[in-house]
This record gives sequence, C-alpha cells and structure tokens, in this order.
Amino acid sequence: MLVVMRHDASPEDVQRVVTTIEEMGYEARPMPGRQRTTVGLVGNDGRVDGARVQALPGVAEVIFVTKPYKQVSREWKPESTVIRLANGVTIGGPEVVVMAGPCSVESESQIMAAAEAVRAAGATVLRGGAFKPRSSPYSFQGLGREALRLLARAREATGLLIVTEAMDPDQVDEVADIADIVQIGARNMQNYTLLRRVGRCGKPVLLKRGMAATVQDLLLSAEYILAEGNPDVILCERGLRGFDTVTRNLFDVTAIPVVHHLSHLPIVADPSHGTGRRDLVPPMARAALAAGADGLIIEVHPAPERALSDGAQSLDPAEFAGMMQDLGRIADAIGRSLAVPAGASK
Ligand code: PEP
Ligand code: MN
Repeated sequence: MLVVMRHDASPEDVQRVVTTIEEMGYEARPMPGRQRTTVGLVGNDGRVDGARVQALPGVAEVIFVTKPYKQVSREWKPESTVIRLANGVTIGGPEVVVMAGPCSVESESQIMAAAEAVRAAGATVLRGGAFKPRSSPYSFQGLGREALRLLARAREATGLLIVTEAMDPDQVDEVADIADIVQIGARNMQNYTLLRRVGRCGKPVLLKRGMAATVQDLLLSAEYILAEGNPDVILCERGLRGFDTVTRNLFDVTAIPVVHHLSHLPIVADPSHGTGRRDLVPPMARAALAAGADGLIIEVHPAPERALSDGAQSLDPAEFAGMMQDLGRIADAIGRSLAVPAGASK
C-alpha cells in the first residue's frame, strides 16, 4: 500500500500516517518527493485495510500495489532510479555505463592490461571475477582474495570502478570492501540469505537474472535487497537456457523494455554470457542499447585464446574498441551518451 500525501500536507500529517501504519503492525517508509510525499507500507503479505489511513488529515489517496513486488515497482515509484557511482558516473539516467574486463582475474599483468585497454576504449567500470561460480568443481575457481587486491590496484592505476561477484554471505564484507558494485551471479539470484546480506552491504548491487528465472522472479529477488534498505540495485539480463545449442544462452532483449515498464530500477545487458560467442557479442550489445539498456557488461581479455574462463565469448581489446565506436553512434541516435571516464573530456 502506498499513501500519497496532499501537496500541502504538514510534517505532522506525514508523521501521523507513519505512526498509524506502525500501530497497525507494519513498517512505514516515508519518501519525500518534489511535488509531495508518499509513505509506503511494507511488511504485509496480502491486502491491508486502508480505511484507517485514508481518513487521516493530509492524505490525498491510498494506492494498492497490485504486483507481488512493491518497492521495485513503477507503481511504487514512477520516476526511474538513477544510481550515482563512486566516480560520479550515473546509471539509470541518460548516460550508458559500459563495464568491461575479463571473466576472471588471472594475474596482475592480465588484469592491468585488460584495465588499460577497456579504459582506453571508453569503459568506466572494470569487471573481473575473484570468486568464480563454475559449473565444474575442477574448473578454475578464481584467485579469491588475491584477485580483490589486484582489482584494487587496477582501480588505483586507471580510475576505473570495480564490479566483482560475491558468492557467499560470509564473503560479502570482504568483497564490498573493495568493490564499487557487488555482483550477484545468475546462479545465486535466488539465494535469499545472500540477497538479504547484500541488502545491508552499503554498496550498489548488480543482480544478474537467473538462467531459468522469469522477469517477476528477478524483480522479487531485487525486492529482497531493497527490503533490507539498499535502494541501489542494477538489474542485469544475461541470457536464459534455451533449447538451441547454437548459442550458449538465449539472450532475452525483450526483458529490457519489459523491466523498464514494470520497474524503476536500471537494467544492464550482458551479451557475453547471453550468447557465449565472441562474434555475437557486438551485434547483441548494439541491440540491447537500442532496446533501452542502461549499460552493458562485456567480457574483454588481452588474449582470449589463453583465458582461464569464458575465452570463447571474450572480445580482444581491438574488437572491444570497434564495438564501442558503434555503441557511441547508437547512443547518439537515441538521445543518450556513453558515460565518460572521470578525468576524460566529453
Ligand atoms: C560472470 O559474470 O562471469 C558470470 C559468472 O556470470 P553469470 O552469473 O551471469 O553466469
Ligand atoms: Mn564469465
């Protein structure tokens, strides 16, 4: 339930609504807006009797949120959420943020070369897995803590922000200490203990859609993070399990405008995992941007043929630079612009 206050409602009117909601046994979230304040009611599972609140002074209307997710819905918050990252770059507004780098951090020279290359081509965030969720226990599992240290060094050297994955609730503090954005991988999209934990980590979260998750599942998972008090969630479409083995996954471009319709949260696209094929990454990146993606996350490796994970879907630096040129032109055509690295001129 969402209580919309009249534009002339006093702070006392708002407080009375908050107190009433709390007396009813729920939690109240006052949200001051430019025109008027709204007060959200959370903690209910099912319809709440709004009559008591409706009758209070200063209340303009009571809206019942029809979706099972609430705080992430556009009914709850009609204007798009714009997240300001640590370097001033925003995601969810007109800027398009490109995050790029290797699937896994493999060595200091590899991550430094990747960071320099993606920065030179215009990326603003460096991706790189430290803790890797691999399908086989015998595959490279990531360098762990050492990789976090290398990522921090790459940030120091290039000014790029860092996005990297936390796989376990016990890992969250350590990852959030280094990361500017904490990634939750597709396999963990419904790990509710982990979601609650990153809801309290104090950093923006990149939440990847599970490979067999509906858009509603994705939004309900995001709701867990917001329910813990973290409003900075970036959703990510990364492809679904399909039946055709011609690609690794079925990249669901449709999810981008669907999410924008249902939710105020930004959504980025990952055409690297979405297709699993290097040759398909640039065309699907262009399609995602044209469809309204607020950013892209792209795997780039200085020498993809030697990558310890996901080499087949990784671009080399020259391919990435070429793709960025095309993305710049598409952004222009739809009234957006690629976010510019701090210190660089527009
Ligand atoms: C990754 O980003 O390298 C990754 C493992 O992604 P996903 O969780 O989407 O498979
Ligand atoms: Mn990968």
